Amino acid sequence: MQAEDAMIIRNPLIPFPRFLAVNICGLIFTRRNVRLTPVDLNHERIHTRQMVETLFVGFYLWYVVEWLVRLAIVHNGLRAYHAIRFEREAYDHERDLDYLRRRRPYAWLRGTSPTLPTKENSKLMKSLHKST
Ligand SMILES: [Zn+2]
Repeated sequence: MQAEDAMIIRNPLIPFPRFLAVNICGLIFTRRNVRLTPVDLNHERIHTRQMVETLFVGFYLWYVVEWLVRLAIVHNGLRAYHAIRFEREAYDHERDLDYLRRRRPYAWLRGTSPTLPTKENSKLMKSLHKST
């Protein structure tokens, strides 16, 4: 069994309503009536790979701390969630079903922060300043 193989546990309680699935230590919990797409599963498999890289405990610690820090910056729980490095990698690549085969280790560390300017954004901002 590869690290990113998904064990799906259908149940009546986890996750909370309005959430599709939650990945707990590589086990994907979803409600009985939810149909997970290949993209959904790929998203969760990316998280499982991240968990293995951070020895599981590190994933949850980093996840919560980064969410709190970003929440303090953006004052919006959903935006803070989408800005977490783990989520950014998962959302950016979930539609690429071959991604995990090509992915470099610790790819989530290489992500850029939406709250910090990227090189491209910096160039764009400079060009906008020049034109005004
Ligand atoms: Zn996610």
